[in-house]
Amino acid sequence: MKSQGYAALNENGKIEPYAFERREIGANDVALDILYGGICHSDIHQVRGEWGPALFPMVPGHEIVGRVTSIGGSVSKFAVGDLIGIGVFIDSCRTCKNCLVGLQQYCLNGMTGTYNGYERDGTTVAMGGYSNNFVINEDYAVHVPANLPLEGVAPLMCAGITLYSPLKHWNAGPGKKVAIMGLGGLGHMGLKFAAALGAHVTVLSHSPTKRGDALAMGAHDFVVMDSDEAFAGLKRNFDLILNTVSADMPIAKYLDLVAVDGALVMIGLPNEPLTVSVGSLIGSRRTLSGSMIGGIPELQEMLEFCGIHNIVSEVEVIKPEYINEAYDRTVASDVKYRFVIDSSAY
Ligand code: NAP
Ligand code: ZN
Repeated sequence: MKSQGYAALNENGKIEPYAFERREIGANDVALDILYGGICHSDIHQVRGEWGPALFPMVPGHEIVGRVTSIGGSVSKFAVGDLIGIGVFIDSCRTCKNCLVGLQQYCLNGMTGTYNGYERDGTTVAMGGYSNNFVINEDYAVHVPANLPLEGVAPLMCAGITLYSPLKHWNAGPGKKVAIMGLGGLGHMGLKFAAALGAHVTVLSHSPTKRGDALAMGAHDFVVMDSDEAFAGLKRNFDLILNTVSADMPIAKYLDLVAVDGALVMIGLPNEPLTVSVGSLIGSRRTLSGSMIGGIPELQEMLEFCGIHNIVSEVEVIKPEYINEAYDRTVASDVKYRFVIDSSAY
């Protein structure tokens, strides 16, 4: 199937127009026209080689919403015309104990990423969502509620699920104090979900200008973490802190803000290993943990939650030729709050 998109041709990081072929649909595949594709900070890390050697040409993009255009003979989950969402992986082994319980993101044999890797056959390079169409096995795509604006749905497929999953896992809800570190693409989704789940939500930011937006999105508090006083005032305060920042942060200082039996969960991936005080863990029975996206059943559950609570991402819709500038603005924390590509413009 012919595809038109944008790719990074090498590690110089520049994204440019790129034509390529996808496989024709097999019996269990669906084909779709992509309507919108989000730009995740993970795309930038990979295009710029910040996560080690990458596969070029690379068509990034793992926040995909589209409409089904054709289905294989054995497909039962989707019909032509359905809205469809695709996230960070397009397959997994299906047989390990994690896949069997719907935690495909933790597949023991390695999930198959939506781009910058090989498909399950081990030879076809997976091409992502900065493009006009896609082919995927029906088991790794989800249904999208019809009542939501689709440009705001695309980022749910990564930014959304990545915050929804730990909020559910650590039981965010009424009576719980949750903090979100970093009000970016991931962080603003965490804020909206935590507020909708009934938790008391505080945004911990390094950008004073984001205060108004944070409060409008449901934050109860907004604290700029630029002084010792800011930290001192929040000691042992939070049941759950979700850290969406990829910059190296003073984690030991943030750990001290976690209440007894609370957790600090790493979501952004810093370059350097962490240094933590074991005394800080022991002294308050605190947990330091991590979390990665979410599995297919939880992705579907999250979209249904969004449909009921009218939750979508705050987006700036762009044309493909703006992608390089969008990358620079994202790195500068200058995005409100996710760039989304209009896929009809390829
Ligand atoms: P983003 O839109 O760029 O947001 C990151 C936010 O971090 C910024 O908006 C900013 O918020 C804060 N920040 C940035 N630089 C900072 C600095 N030097 N010091 C302090 N705070 C800083 O990125 P994103 O798309 O949300 O992704 C965030 C990270 O999560 C990336 O590393 C990405 O690769 C990773 N990620 C992880 C998963 C997973 O499954 N675990 C999934 C997707 C992405 P303020 O302006 O409010 O401070
Ligand atoms: Zn992502």
